[in-house]
Amino acid sequence: MPHILIVEDEAAIADTLIFALQGDGHSTEWVTLGSAALEQQRQRPADLIILDIGLPDISGFETCRQLRRFSEVPVMFLSARDGEIDRVVGLEIGADDYVVKPFSPREVAARVRAILKRMAPRAEPLASAPELFQVDTLRMQIHYHGQALSLTRHEFRLLQSLLEQPERVFSREQLLDAVGVAADVGYERSIDSHIKSLRAKLRAVAADAEPIQTHRGLGYSYSPSHS
Ligand code: CA
Repeated sequence: MPHILIVEDEAAIADTLIFALQGDGHSTEWVTLGSAALEQQRQRPADLIILDIGLPDISGFETCRQLRRFSEVPVMFLSARDGEIDRVVGLEIGADDYVVKPFSPREVAARVRAILKRMAPRAEPLASAPELFQVDTLRMQIHYHGQALSLTRHEFRLLQSLLEQPERVFSREQLLDAVGVAADVGYERSIDSHIKSLRAKLRAVAADAEPIQTHRGLGYSYSPSHS
């Protein structure tokens, strides 16, 4: 049974989430403070965290930042504001989804299902993974020229998607989808920043190779011949 941690200081909102998520077959834990969420995740790790941004102690953003130092658990932000900056910031610090209040609890439950499904390890190893790269989906690790890359979860999913289909040009929207965040206006530049940091990590292993190609106005592809 997937275990969901809800971090929300408004009891009425927490109640509707608990009701919807339990109705969907999840177990839930509810805390009202960011610090309590961090402690809870250390003691009894949840499979997914729903994290309000406006919390009485530390903000949801700060909670997520601290969380990412020790956990890769999927995070869905709840926000009272519908600001593009919030969304981009949220995704850049490692959130998986973003819901603006007021929301429908059923919609949140559906998104939770979708995230958990995407996070489930793939049963089959990648048959098409090129030899220069070794993809370990269970450990979410990729080796490049025999060296383990230190990737964030988003970088891992980006590179994994590109490697699965060499030479295919992915649009930013398709890559957002692959990373597992809903494509939306403003999210696209977060892909560019993930690609930038991914390239830096690849370059640290092989300085002259450029396995990720930019296609101006179109998107990105993986090119084995440039690896
Ligand atoms: Ca709040």
